Amino acid sequence: MTEHEVLIAGGGPTGLMLAAELSLAGVDTAIVERRESQHLAGSRAGGLHSRTIEVFDMRGIADRFLSRGQVAQVVGFNLVRLDMSDFPTRHPYGLALFQNQIERILADWVEELGVPFYRQREVTGFTQDHTSVTLEVADGSSLRAKYLVGCDGARSIVRKTAGIDFPGWDPTTSWIIAEVETTEEPSWGLRVDATGATQAIGKGDSGKARMVLMDREPKSGEPTLGDLKQRLVDIYGNDFGVHDPIWLSRFTDMTRQAATYRDGRILLAGDAAHVHPPIGGQGLNIGVQDAVNLGWKLAQVVKGISPENLLDTYQAERHPVTARVLKNTMAQTALRRSDERTKALGDIIAELVVMDEPRKRLAAEMSGLGVRYDLGDGHPLLGRRIPDLEVVTASGPLRVFTLLHGARPALINFAKPGSIDITPWADRVQSIDAKYDGPWELPVIGAVAAPAAVLIRPDGYVAWVGDGTESGLADALTKWFGTR
Ligand SMILES: Cc1cc2nc3c(=O)[nH]c(=O)nc-3n(C[C@H](O)[C@H](O)[C@H](O)COP(=O)(O)OP(=O)(O)OC[C@H]3O[C@@H](n4cnc5c(N)ncnc54)[C@H](O)[C@@H]3O)c2cc1C
Repeated sequence: MTEHEVLIAGGGPTGLMLAAELSLAGVDTAIVERRESQHLAGSRAGGLHSRTIEVFDMRGIADRFLSRGQVAQVVGFNLVRLDMSDFPTRHPYGLALFQNQIERILADWVEELGVPFYRQREVTGFTQDHTSVTLEVADGSSLRAKYLVGCDGARSIVRKTAGIDFPGWDPTTSWIIAEVETTEEPSWGLRVDATGATQAIGKGDSGKARMVLMDREPKSGEPTLGDLKQRLVDIYGNDFGVHDPIWLSRFTDMTRQAATYRDGRILLAGDAAHVHPPIGGQGLNIGVQDAVNLGWKLAQVVKGISPENLLDTYQAERHPVTARVLKNTMAQTALRRSDERTKALGDIIAELVVMDEPRKRLAAEMSGLGVRYDLGDGHPLLGRRIPDLEVVTASGPLRVFTLLHGARPALINFAKPGSIDITPWADRVQSIDAKYDGPWELPVIGAVAAPAAVLIRPDGYVAWVGDGTESGLADALTKWFGTR
């Protein structure tokens, strides 16, 4: 039976990112995917938020995305644009780029990293014992690994086989989504229909019309071309001669989150762990960030550097972040109701969210820049993302994110050169003396005191902040990167 250290079920955005992270950490990982190629029938996600661009920048691949997409202010709450161009980041914007292209770029990177990809293999289940997981594939074959991560989307067979609960809220609304040819020029853009519901027609990745039309009443099951035509006539009085759909589907506002992200040797990430309506365009982004949080932790456990309980911090950190995203999308879905009272509420919210403080808070939350993992009290940097500052080292200027290209942790000492000694961890933590005289500024929070040193995890979050002494450093190194 073929063996790997980690198997990833599903090669969508989450599975691809996780495979890359594990591979960078030197773990033998393989992806098992039922699709024949990376191609998606429809465009699905329409872009990346700022933190995801930062994450790709940390790995040295942001330009691959930026060169193909369109930089734009994409954060919005209840259709009100929240401009974040004043945010302290190299990427104070989002990127309009369809999922098909995002996946292709990630898949090329994963291929460069040499990750084996078992395509056209449908996972049907698994068994696990104290030492391994055996993955069952529809063609009758099996694969074995120390760990299995279910990145197999909303209907995750991994989650179901593990018997992990998926509590949440049933749909109250549904939308038809289609990418179609038309014989007439459709009414491009947003349209508030006679019932007050917002409908949208834009261009998809294929260049064809991409239509997102709210159903009059919540429906389930796949729509037909006839359903689409009928809905267009209801809303626009014209079906624009739609024909030859390359994608015709329905999504709902179903909102659910896995009760646990781990069961023994099984972990869940991305849509397999959480689903919500696409309002705000956050699903793909939080899946990528799940992967970046989990990858290095799982790598250390697989290599025996850290005990298994390091994996518990994955759920402890990511579950609350996603619960908040779910709340955000539920709130926005509620505001899409078209009765007069909800419209009045929406008008007042629209006035409030553009005010400075709510704008910053919401934009930080939805762009991912505001994430703070609870690593205890202390300096505001603790548990937050390290900004990509340009520091000066003995060998010249250096962008902090450059240190993270290989997904290895780093200690940066801004105090007297050589004043911090982490020799016992030298095989796994980079250590560098640097100078930085500029301001330290965090989204929403603003200016913070310059730290004397920072310990940065491979996912770019600060695990320890120095005050000129080494107080707490050995504990932080041991907690996150194993004993000496
Ligand atoms: C209309 C729409 C618009 C959206 N817009 C946005 C947006 O603008 N921004 C955003 O961030 N998100 C958006 N999303 C959400 C985004 O598409 C998902 O959150 C994202 O695709 C999740 O990635 P994933 O890798 O976790 O899961 P998926 O993309 O679902 O990938 C799962 C993978 O697993 C494979 N798989 C499934 N079952 C098996 C099996 N049994 N065996 C083997 N392989 C299997 C699938 O083929 C697939 O490749 C949108 C979604 C929709 C529907």
